Amino acid sequence: ARQAKIRNFSIVAHIDHGKSTIADRILELTETVSKREMQAQLLDSMDLERERGITIKLNAVELHYTAKDGETYIFHLIDTPGHVDFSYEVSRSLAACEGAILVVDASQGVEAQTLANVYLALDDDLEIVPVINKIDLPSAQPEVVRQEIEDVIGLDASEAVLASAKTGIGIEEMLEQIVHNIPAPDGDLTAPLKALIFDSVYDDYRGVVLSMRVVEGVVKPGDKIRLMNSGAEYEVVEVGVNSPKPIKRDYLMAGDVGYLTASIKDIQDTRVGDTVTHADNPAEKPLAGYREMHPMVFSGLYPTDNAKYNDLREALEKLQLNDAALEFEPETSQALGFGFRCGFLGMLHMDVVQERLEREFNMDLITTAPSVTYNVELTDGQMVDVSNPSQMPEVSTIKEINEPYVKATIMVPNDYVGAVMDLCQRKRGTFITMEYLDDYRVNVIYDMPLSEIIFDFFDKLKSGTKGYASLDYELDGTRPSDLVKIDILLNGDKVDALSFIAHRDFAQERARTIVVRLKDVIPRQNFEIPIQAAIGAKIIARTNIKAYRKDVTARIHTGDPDRRAKLLDKQKRGKKRMKSVGTVDVPQDAFMAVLKTD
Ligand code: GDP
Ligand code: MG
Repeated sequence: ARQAKIRNFSIVAHIDHGKSTIADRILELTETVSKREMQAQLLDSMDLERERGITIKLNAVELHYTAKDGETYIFHLIDTPGHVDFSYEVSRSLAACEGAILVVDASQGVEAQTLANVYLALDDDLEIVPVINKIDLPSAQPEVVRQEIEDVIGLDASEAVLASAKTGIGIEEMLEQIVHNIPAPDGDLTAPLKALIFDSVYDDYRGVVLSMRVVEGVVKPGDKIRLMNSGAEYEVVEVGVNSPKPIKRDYLMAGDVGYLTASIKDIQDTRVGDTVTHADNPAEKPLAGYREMHPMVFSGLYPTDNAKYNDLREALEKLQLNDAALEFEPETSQALGFGFRCGFLGMLHMDVVQERLEREFNMDLITTAPSVTYNVELTDGQMVDVSNPSQMPEVSTIKEINEPYVKATIMVPNDYVGAVMDLCQRKRGTFITMEYLDDYRVNVIYDMPLSEIIFDFFDKLKSGTKGYASLDYELDGTRPSDLVKIDILLNGDKVDALSFIAHRDFAQERARTIVVRLKDVIPRQNFEIPIQAAIGAKIIARTNIKAYRKDVTARIHTGDPDRRAKLLDKQKRGKKRMKSVGTVDVPQDAFMAVLKTD
């Protein structure tokens, strides 16, 4: 039977250990793409992914491999992101698989996300095929890493594949191990249809395209389907697989990973994690679906042009289809007008959403500084959640502010433990414990405010440890905290979108840093602009932006037409990302200035 020849697997790894490159080699070796069509990081189809060299979205492809036993196998390979912000994408793709290739860099060894992702895979009972990659590097230590996989993760690594995605060594052996070690799917073909939606994307012509793993039954064009949670019903127009281009199929059956279209125009109907079944012969219960994701970071997104408000809403709705972790709701700001408060899983996620809105939907946006959600107890006993600093209640009405905390696990070589502890301490962390993983590697565990982790912690951690530290964290409740709201006044007017929350001990210092930074990023105008920072009515820092003098405004004289054009272009782009706030033009940079802590 065809089912016995199917292997569904995913590739998990810490970022940069070589997942995407291994996927490229597999596509080449199985001749899924011709040499002519081959380009690096083929599965990273978004421009953004290629430019940044990271995988953001999971991607599923079908390929065919003729093994040494002479049989041809059908592989469904699902590439997944490695960054901590996107681990929800990883868990979704794992639910569609029976096995996972675990890639570990032979020169770096096991890192925090290696552990986090492999645990996700083990939770789903997946069969793991360990691969030690980059053995071509002079600094590779494959035997050390093999031992590490056994000691730190607890997997049998005696048969771990030694590979180089760069030179192609070990790729064939890896495919053989996939055939022999990863089980075929075993769903009942005659049972009522059950298919798990793990991704979706909106296409102007075909409507919503669902990516799904068929768990039981068979589905084909013409079938009447029901989405079990939303109750919506549709007639299937097309089913198929990506290889990596879409290829139509007559049907998809239990064990298959593919796509389905049904002229679905109403994006509200389709949610990742929902189960597709037949309308006439429905399954009794939907599949378990996915753990709901909760955004950790919130920021305001505003169109630079107020007339684009509805376009922005439409763009967010479409993007949400393809990004189940994105949340948004309308908000208004006195300074910025109508926009949306959006929830993200982390800063990278926020960055990616903003860039996708700009590129894929042509939006020009102003984003406000991200904030976590504070849980505020009022003197009258009421509890309110505040994820927009400007909406922090009056000080006199607050009994207690609770801020979200995380358990942060930092994996680092011995030598850098001191540096890591220093940094955590400065970020208001409380030391919990330290665990030796092997002779030279340590897990340092801290209790830390989420707000300190999400901004620049990771960059600081990397630079303080020559890149050796890796980080993983999980939410761990809230703690009461002595926090204050700091308002910024431009030319005497409070700019709500610039308000931020800080710990009282750091308030003065941060306020001072920020007014100075604002002075640098807000362009001079023909009048003097005072910038003030205040807690309530009390001014705690101030400075002035001087008015410009006539000669500064004189036209740019530059002979080189190329340079002149560039200058003009730069000015134009700068202008677009500018908002008039009262009498002052405020550029995008200003809204982010409150983030930088030094
Ligand atoms: P991902 O983040 O896990 O998808 O990692 P990538 O596939 O993007 O690889 C990260 C970097 O490592 C890229 O610069 C690759 O060219 C490089 N790389 C991947 N595999 C190998 C390998 O086997 N040997 C060497 N020397 N470099 C590799
Ligand atoms: Mg990648």
